[in-house]
Amino acid sequence: MYQRIIDLHVHTDNSPDGNHSAMFICERAELNGVRALALTDHCEVERYKSEHYDKRVKHAFFEASKAQSAFRGKVLVLRGIELGQPHYDPETARAIVSARPYDEVLGSVHYLRNGIDFYDMEHFDEASAHALTVEYLDEILQMLEWGNFDILAHLTYPMRYMYARAGILIDLEKYKKQVDEILKRVAETGKALEINTAGLRQPIGRLSPEFDTIKRFRELGGEYITYGSDAHFADDVGKGMNEAYDAMRQAGFTQLTLFQQRMPLQMPID
Ligand SMILES: [Zn+2]
Ligand SMILES: [Zn+2]
Repeated sequence: MYQRIIDLHVHTDNSPDGNHSAMFICERAELNGVRALALTDHCEVERYKSEHYDKRVKHAFFEASKAQSAFRGKVLVLRGIELGQPHYDPETARAIVSARPYDEVLGSVHYLRNGIDFYDMEHFDEASAHALTVEYLDEILQMLEWGNFDILAHLTYPMRYMYARAGILIDLEKYKKQVDEILKRVAETGKALEINTAGLRQPIGRLSPEFDTIKRFRELGGEYITYGSDAHFADDVGKGMNEAYDAMRQAGFTQLTLFQQRMPLQMPID
């Protein structure tokens, strides 16, 4: 059993799909022995004004700051944000990131440019799943070109829904060229790859990304690796950590990473 619970991807009720307040989450985290957690509420950049993320982001930072003070010496509370599709509106994204002293910025792609979240897609077949995967991976690369984030979140996000809705399992080995380019770019730019464990609580039942990709990241020079539960409920903080840490170690990582003031800090996985 690992002792050092450091969960860098947690949502509060300042996310549209979150359920608990920052204070409640931190109370539970303290009881559950969590050492550090990052509050990373959603900000879908191209919907910043239309879906009131401007107000949500402000509240989220305020609440995270309060929790940080309240739990000082007990749980290290990091102030983060999960930026969705920042490269679709790079100017707005830049302004959001520079407006507040974040500890960490997660980079995510939840939507393609047609504007539908993979989560909301009802139907997939082999052909559409393939085309969507190619397009999705290309968007990840373009987000890396934009570059103003610290952690690449849930690299296999669409695959959760391809499996849940249509039983389609995507083998990333078939997309090796694109995936290698992504992993190399993450490594070269000193960003972290997240091991997201939400999939373990969903029908797909797998880490995101899976072990082979984590190992490949290491082979390609990846240095920084993080664990994130992607919890939307207080009691999901820390879930899947053992599986994530096992995968890190088996892939050759000896240290895990957290970000403070957007600087990576490493510590032994134990
Ligand atoms: Zn996400
Ligand atoms: Zn998330």
